[in-house]
Amino acid sequence: MKKINANHMPLYREAGFNLQNSKRTKEAFAAELDHAHEPEDYIYSRYRNPTTVAVEKQIMALEDCKWALLVETGMAAIDVAVSVFQKGKDTRPSLYFHEIYGGTNSFIDTVLIKRRNLDVHRFYATDGRYDFVELERMLAEIKPEFLYFEAVSNPMLIVADVKRIMALAKQYEAKIIVDNTFGTPLLWKPLMDGADLVIHSATKYLSGHGNITAGVICGNDEELMKEAIEYRKWAGHFLSPDDAYRLGTQLKSFELRFQKHCDNAMALATYLEKHPQIEEVLYPGLESHPTRKEAVALFGDKGFGGMLTFDIKGDSDTDKREKCNRFIAALEDTIPLVPTLGEVDTILLPVEPVWGAKYPLPGVIRLSVGIESIEKLKALIGDALGKM
Ligand SMILES: *Cc1c(COP(=O)(O)O)cnc(C)c1O
Repeated sequence: MKKINANHMPLYREAGFNLQNSKRTKEAFAAELDHAHEPEDYIYSRYRNPTTVAVEKQIMALEDCKWALLVETGMAAIDVAVSVFQKGKDTRPSLYFHEIYGGTNSFIDTVLIKRRNLDVHRFYATDGRYDFVELERMLAEIKPEFLYFEAVSNPMLIVADVKRIMALAKQYEAKIIVDNTFGTPLLWKPLMDGADLVIHSATKYLSGHGNITAGVICGNDEELMKEAIEYRKWAGHFLSPDDAYRLGTQLKSFELRFQKHCDNAMALATYLEKHPQIEEVLYPGLESHPTRKEAVALFGDKGFGGMLTFDIKGDSDTDKREKCNRFIAALEDTIPLVPTLGEVDTILLPVEPVWGAKYPLPGVIRLSVGIESIEKLKALIGDALGKM
C-alpha cells in the first residue's frame, strides 16, 4: 500500500496483525514472552495495538512515567493494578482507604473478598480526618503488600497528607497504589513522589467530554509493567483502538481544560460560600475547608480541582430535601443530573440518593464544574437558588 502523506497518527483497527511467514511468527510469539510495552511485531490487538500504544505514550508524558497501559474502564485499571500483586495462596493482605470511589469499595466487597477471598483491610476517616496513629498501627499489624488511596476523596473532597501517608507506607514496606482521577497529573504526579502504581479513570478529566469510558495504569517499575501486561492480556482488559484514538485527540486539550475546571470551581466556590441560601461549601481551595492546608501543601498554586460540594440551607431534613429537588428541577435544562464527572459541561449529583447510608445528607449537592463561562455558570446557579 502507498505510504500516505498524513499528519496525524493512523487508526489501526486490526484484530490480528500480518506476520507473513513462519519464521517471523515464531519470533513474534517468542518475543511476546518478554511483555515489552512496544513490541517489534504486533500480534493481536488484545496483546498490544499500535494506536493504543501511541496514546499510552501521551499519558506517559503527562504523568512523567516510564509506562502506561490503557484499558476499557477505570474499574478495569483498578483490577489490573491490584491483581499484579496477587500470587495465589501467597497473596499478602492489602490495606485500602475507605474514603475512595464507591465503585472501588464495591469491587473490594464483591470481587476481592466475595469471589477471590482475599485478606483486605480498610482504613476509615474519622470526622473527615485521617488518624495517622491508627494508620501506623494498622500498617504495623497487617503488614500489607500495598496501601491504596486517593489524594482527594469523593464527595467530601478531603485532601490527604499524601507525603506522610507515603512515608508511613514505605516505613512498613508496603507498596503504594494511588487513584489519581480527581487530582489528575496536572495537580499531582504520585509516581514522582514514590508511588508504585497510579490509576486513572480516563472516563473523567483525561477524556473530558463524557463520551469515552477508559482507564489507565501508570508506573515506572519494569517488572510491574510486565505483570500488568500479562494480566491485561489474559484477563481480556483492553481499550479499543477507536476509543484510544478519540482519547488521544481529547488528551491534547487536557491541560487547558483542567486549568479552566480548576479556575471555574474556585470562582464558583467563592461565590456560593457568600450566598445566603447556602449553608456550607466544601472546596479544598477555600480557607474554610478542613483540609485546605493539605491541599496547599500538595497542589501549591496549581489549583484545587474541578469538583465542589455544597449544602443547601433548610430548617429540617424535609425542607432541605425539597429545596434540593427544586434546585435540581430549576436546572433541568442547563445543568443536568448525571452520575459521572470531569466533563466540559457542568453536571450535578445529589449526595443523599447516591451515597445514602454513607452520607445521608439531604441538602448536599456535588457539582462537577465544567469549562463554561464563569459568569454564565454563576447566573444559572444563582437563578436556581433564587427559585427555591
Ligand atoms: C469513575 C471513577 C472510577 C471508575 O472509573 P470507570 O471509568 O467508571 O470505570 C474510579 N475512581 C474514581 C476516583 C472515579 O471517579
